[in-house]
Amino acid sequence: MEKKIFVTQPTLPDLEDFIPYLEKIWESKWLTNNGPFHKKFEKELAEFLGVPYISLFANGTLALVTALQVLGIKGEVITTPYSFVATTHSLWWNKIKPVFVDIEPDYCNLDPEKIELAITPETSAILPVHVYGNPCKVDRIKQISDKHGLKVIYDAAHAFGVKLNNKNICNQGDLSILSFHATKVFNTMEGGAIVCRDAEMKKQIDYLKNFGFADETTVVAPGINSKMNEMQAALGLLQLQAYDKNVQIRKEIDHEYRLNLADIKGIYLLNSPKETESNYAYFPIFVNEQEYGKSRDQLYEKLKKNGIFGRRYFFPLISEFPMYNKLESAKQENLKTAFLKANQVICLPIYPTLELKTIKFIANIISNPKWK
Ligand SMILES: *Cc1c(COP(=O)(O)O)cnc(C)c1O
Repeated sequence: MEKKIFVTQPTLPDLEDFIPYLEKIWESKWLTNNGPFHKKFEKELAEFLGVPYISLFANGTLALVTALQVLGIKGEVITTPYSFVATTHSLWWNKIKPVFVDIEPDYCNLDPEKIELAITPETSAILPVHVYGNPCKVDRIKQISDKHGLKVIYDAAHAFGVKLNNKNICNQGDLSILSFHATKVFNTMEGGAIVCRDAEMKKQIDYLKNFGFADETTVVAPGINSKMNEMQAALGLLQLQAYDKNVQIRKEIDHEYRLNLADIKGIYLLNSPKETESNYAYFPIFVNEQEYGKSRDQLYEKLKKNGIFGRRYFFPLISEFPMYNKLESAKQENLKTAFLKANQVICLPIYPTLELKTIKFIANIISNPKWK
């Protein structure tokens, strides 16, 4: 490949379609603080996703930090090491102790059967991630959280638009958070949201993202500034219009990869749980070194040499980073499946403008592991 192919390429509308939105912002001079585009995007997004209430954020990480704040989560929180580092960092910013629990091998999500063993008197919540957009075992997690009186916050940063049994996945748990970062399936350059179930909760979240202001002179909570601005919201409105089409193209790319990568010894693909409507956000493959004859990193380097820049999401595990690796729950014997997957995974490029011939090119490299 002459040009470099990265794991993703942000999706943007035509610039000329965005200009009328910018003109409106320039005319009104309303740049942030719940302006007209913010209001409209919040409303349209909730309708589009089929969720009760949404509060928009400057990014997904601040949405996570604020979600933990609004529920008053303290002590210990059970979470997965197999995620983007922001998941656990949001706990650190709230002075909460992360307790890592292993993942299940089918979808790489938190293994509900291991959650109960990790519960202590200090545990106040569970923070699972719908990794690669695949729904967690939400019913089982609800059973456990109900039984032990724990809150559940889903990190749904990968799961924009994903449905389980025809219902948006963000209807699960007490709160869900979304990310609209440039690299995600739906982007507002930077951006994020908390999905919640009732108007009172949304009000509390809205206070917290705007310094705690209830009106001009009343501050009701020690809030932060994590508001989405008007440019982000305007872009979001425009991006929503193209979302269904983009997911359809991603689906075709996913299909093409599966055709071309079927039956390669030692290469395993990820499927989705039954009754899932996917967003095709990622295309992870897992390399079994013994069967494939080359290691994951050898394949990763080989692809790179050919201009294909896959990413090892999620390697290293969050629990390996220096601020967490001294925790009891970070020990390798506690996280066997997570370590295994982290050492096997490569996420291949997937985005709407990826060409079919590039997929064939990538598949050819993978299917022929005879290289030195
Ligand atoms: C991207 C991501 C986040 C953080 O979102 P930002 O919008 O980049 O702050 C959190 N969790 C997961 C799993 C993510 O992939």
